Amino acid sequence: MTLLTHESPLMLTGKSDFLQFDCDCACPQTPFPITHNLNSNSQFIRNINSYHSLLMNDYHLVYSNDAPIGPSVLNTSAWQRYQSFSQEQLLSEPIDYQLAEQGLIVPSRVTFETCVHPPQQLTAWLHVTNACNLDCPYCYVRKSSEHLSEEIGMIAIKRLFETAQEEQLKTVKLKYAGGEALLHFSLIKQLHSYAIELSQQMGIELTAVILSNGTVINSDIVHWLANNHVKLMLSVDGIGEVHDQQRPTKKGKPTFAILEQHLLQDLLPHGIKPDISITVTQQNADGVADVVQWAIQHNLPFTINFYRENLLSQSKQALMLEEITIISGIKAAYQAIEANLPTYSVLNGLLDKVQSHAHTHTCGVGKNYVVITHKGQVAQCQMHLDETLGSIQQNKIIPLVAQGKIQNLSVDEKEGCKTCEFRYRCTGGCPVETYRVTGRWDIKSPHCHIYKALYPEALRLEGLRLLKLHGLHS
Ligand code: SF4
Ligand code: SF4
Repeated sequence: MTLLTHESPLMLTGKSDFLQFDCDCACPQTPFPITHNLNSNSQFIRNINSYHSLLMNDYHLVYSNDAPIGPSVLNTSAWQRYQSFSQEQLLSEPIDYQLAEQGLIVPSRVTFETCVHPPQQLTAWLHVTNACNLDCPYCYVRKSSEHLSEEIGMIAIKRLFETAQEEQLKTVKLKYAGGEALLHFSLIKQLHSYAIELSQQMGIELTAVILSNGTVINSDIVHWLANNHVKLMLSVDGIGEVHDQQRPTKKGKPTFAILEQHLLQDLLPHGIKPDISITVTQQNADGVADVVQWAIQHNLPFTINFYRENLLSQSKQALMLEEITIISGIKAAYQAIEANLPTYSVLNGLLDKVQSHAHTHTCGVGKNYVVITHKGQVAQCQMHLDETLGSIQQNKIIPLVAQGKIQNLSVDEKEGCKTCEFRYRCTGGCPVETYRVTGRWDIKSPHCHIYKALYPEALRLEGLRLLKLHGLHS
């Protein structure tokens, strides 16, 4: 029997506070909205394509794969109203419209249409250099002293803006990467000045991030970052020895203390809050909780990313993603987050490539993402730096990346994903990793068990965060 309650129905959904975090990959920037028929003359019914769990103190977490964003939290009264839609009925109360907006109740006789919006942004990995002062065992870059020349870099920037204009894209996002891109800071400065010039001339928005190991930062870099609004992403794989084991110098020396010193003494005092990218391997999984605690303590956004085995990986056995270890390490990290829950959303960083906005493709590969090598060659993904498709000078970029080997399919085309309740968030994982393990592009991620074990936990954290944000949970 349903208990009667006198409280007003309350539904909480995080909408505008989902941060986009930077990591090594290229996430789609434009999620697709799901078209709803909110005609109150239609009968509505509970969406079977949804997930729910009891959160705490009679608050329920609900999530629909068909929602543009989510999850949501319902109080008992809203939950009871939601339950009542097990029988089809008309929308009549304000809460009904909120439930419909989140795809938790759907028109009983109308099928949903998914409307994929065209991309708004061209994202480019600019491979500044093959050189690095570190020797991380999972790195996919064939190290050498080779780097981008000013001439090729300028041509690349020009071609990227021309491409954005041709494709009617509003934004160019540059990822200055390597190797250790900051080993060539003066080149980055030159290229970025030119990018700003073209951005202003062509009316195309510019955003940029430098991907770095955080060990070669100096005051020039700090001031330039602060003055040019260029973001910084630092790779941190553990605290102290855990980081040092996974990210040592070429001579095997530790690097965490140097990185932390730069963070505390140079970056934070100048208002620079880098995004922290954590690469999880079997080796450091137990230390992920310490990194997220450290990141939250310094108020830094973070992303938890899976290691991707590649031809250059060292100690493959020690790094491989063994499910039980990875799940328990990341669950421990979630417990650490819960113990010190931020009021800003961390959902987009909690699980490799999983995003809170509904979308169909794991990344922009083959569509609106391009990798430019230091030789001015075009590749589809940074994991395929050696598999270039043609020169940036002689080819149109988008058709070039579209014809590459990597097939970046919609999750609706992946076997095993088509009926998954998390498909428009997970989207079936990294295509390169799936192909490496299965030899197929059109199948679910080999790490599906990890996603399925952890995503409900990540949703739960977001639910608790919403309660805390609204003063309903401490
Ligand atoms: S990989 Fe697994 S969790 Fe992800 S969408 Fe496919 S079936 Fe769902
Ligand atoms: S294919 Fe995989 S590694 Fe490459 S950009 Fe996409 S998600 Fe990242």
